[in-house]
Amino acid sequence: MADCIFCKIVNGEIPAVKVYEDERVLAFMDINPLNDGHTLVIPKKHAETIFEIDPEDLAAAIKVAQKVANAIKKALNPDGLTIIQLNKKAAGQVVPHLHIHLVPRWENDGLKVSRWEPVPGDMEKIKEIGEKIKAAV
Ligand code: AMP
Ligand code: ZN
Repeated sequence: MADCIFCKIVNGEIPAVKVYEDERVLAFMDINPLNDGHTLVIPKKHAETIFEIDPEDLAAAIKVAQKVANAIKKALNPDGLTIIQLNKKAAGQVVPHLHIHLVPRWENDGLKVSRWEPVPGDMEKIKEIGEKIKAAV
């Protein structure tokens, strides 16, 4: 896609610190890292979100996410790893080319991206919504 910054990286039109590449998938370093080692995994073929991506490309991307996660573990020895994938502006997506964030974590690193306070929901409402989704699958 002509105007897409990640397609430009795939096509070599703008530089990136690439760490892995195959026919379908590219992994490169995020230039605004949340922590040392923050890496992005993308399908080479443009797809904006999880709603449109070819399932084969998605499967390839998640397999590469595991491969790179293990490489991060070997290279940086983090205490944990947060995986983030945002879809659409309402979810905070900024670059409209699907990407999986791999964010290495260290105990007490202070990042506010992983935990939320559990607040029990209304079980009737949860069941009702679950039925709607089940019927749509
Ligand atoms: P998101 O909010 O999930 O769309 O995140 C987009 C991510 O892409 C951000 O973490 C940016 O720092 C990152 N990013 C944007 N442009 C580039 C670039 N040229 N090279 C590497 N990472 C980038
Ligand atoms: Zn793109």
